[in-house]
Amino acid sequence: MLKTLTPQEPTLDEKTLARALSGVHLIGGEFVPATSGGTFAVVNPATGIEIARAAEGDASDVDVAVRDANRAQKEWAKLSSRKRGQMVSQCAALIRTHVEEIARLIALETGKALRTESRVEANSVADILEFFGGLGSEIKGESVPFAPNVLSVTVREPLGVVGAIIPWNVPLLLMTLKIAPALVAGNTVVVKSAEEAPLTVLRICELINRVLPPGCFNILSGFGPECGAPLVEHPLVRKLTFTGSVPVGRIVAKAAAEKLIPVTLELGGKSPMIVFADCDFDKTVAGALTSMRFTRQGQSCTAASRIYVERPIYDRFVAAMADKVDAMVMGDPLDEATDIGTIISDDQMARVKGFIAEGLATAGATGRACSAMPSDPALAAGKFIQPHIFTNLPPESRLVTEEIFGPVTCIFPFDSADAVLAAANDSEYGLAASVWTNNLKIGLEFAHRLEAGLVQINQNLVVQANLSYGGVKSSGLGKEASLESMLEHFTHKKTIMMNYA
Ligand code: ADP
Repeated sequence: MLKTLTPQEPTLDEKTLARALSGVHLIGGEFVPATSGGTFAVVNPATGIEIARAAEGDASDVDVAVRDANRAQKEWAKLSSRKRGQMVSQCAALIRTHVEEIARLIALETGKALRTESRVEANSVADILEFFGGLGSEIKGESVPFAPNVLSVTVREPLGVVGAIIPWNVPLLLMTLKIAPALVAGNTVVVKSAEEAPLTVLRICELINRVLPPGCFNILSGFGPECGAPLVEHPLVRKLTFTGSVPVGRIVAKAAAEKLIPVTLELGGKSPMIVFADCDFDKTVAGALTSMRFTRQGQSCTAASRIYVERPIYDRFVAAMADKVDAMVMGDPLDEATDIGTIISDDQMARVKGFIAEGLATAGATGRACSAMPSDPALAAGKFIQPHIFTNLPPESRLVTEEIFGPVTCIFPFDSADAVLAAANDSEYGLAASVWTNNLKIGLEFAHRLEAGLVQINQNLVVQANLSYGGVKSSGLGKEASLESMLEHFTHKKTIMMNYA
């Protein structure tokens, strides 16, 4: 079945590919419809037009997938970890030949601009598979001196079936950060895709299933309570890994507690960017645009949604930043000229617009709408929102304390290092932060004192393979993206002792 539904060769016709991927999960190496026969619409956010249907999974689909993954895991774990790594590296090579197709499909499905976002994300899938594929030999233990005539060693063993739940904002990257280390470590995986972005991850799953044995990597589409909840609660799922909102993260953590299984959570953020007057001004203004992830419409957990600028350069910084955002082009995500695509869905549009309206109605605050709405009539129903830069908001405003997940940032002046540090740390979140200064003593001091899992000085890149990534406070539990994440989160350490006296 896998062979007949979709094009075997890379295709640049994203619309046909989307239709070919309609109405199915991928379980046990085969495309299968939902047991209920149900489907739901997948909509191109740039036009509002339905591009495909997705299979609407429920507990019975979850049960089939998890049982299949459980069967497959027993055989998969018998391969040497090096062999598993080699196979994951082969997946990387196959994905590389499909990068442009994947980029176009994710742009169609999520509205993220092809040049600035979608192509970058498509390449990251191959990068992450390559990185973890090369780490097969690192699934190793230690010998532990215990007593004469006792050989005591540790070995790393897989956990079993991993249940992975992913969001829609960077679904390919975030899924690969979970599946690659899980698979190399000898686990099998059942992913529940995000309801807004079920297609491209399914194509990636299909490509990977051409290399791996059936049942190692399965994907279900469906809604959170109906399909995600039964996955986290399934008794054969022995590890949970989740990226999404704090409230759902708590539900997943509770299910893990009930079953006493390990869980990794990557939740939200309200990441501060701190700009000192001695910074490299132009580089930092450009860095603010990147940090705020404006090309992704701010739909990022690490978006610099609170920017603190030292008072002597504050006015100049705000003006320069607004000018630069004005120069960004909003438009058709598939057009190479476009910098900024769309918001993902009507729900998110309403939510982000609600925050903007609240900010504009706040006494004393100013919200500047930047860039320009696209003029192409074909995009009239598109989910476009102008980026907004707010100044003079009170620190207790919801725009300052809550994660908006849209193209909205708030800028504040500051006068003292202590005051700005206190303001930056005054958040329930602790995912990422950045400090911009040519005084590296200050930069490093802030790096140590900022409450965040990732602090960058004079840059603010997205998650990178090989660097541990994960938040503190309500931003999550555990790390992703690194060797440590594979060993600590996808294996357990078994001690073996042999008495040869
Ligand atoms: P977002 O705001 O990014 O959509 P969510 O946390 O609501 O964040 O969703 C992230 C993922 O969690 C999605 O795949 C969604 O379907 C899933 N999800 C939502 N509710 C539940 C739930 N009760 N149990 C398991 N998964 C859920």
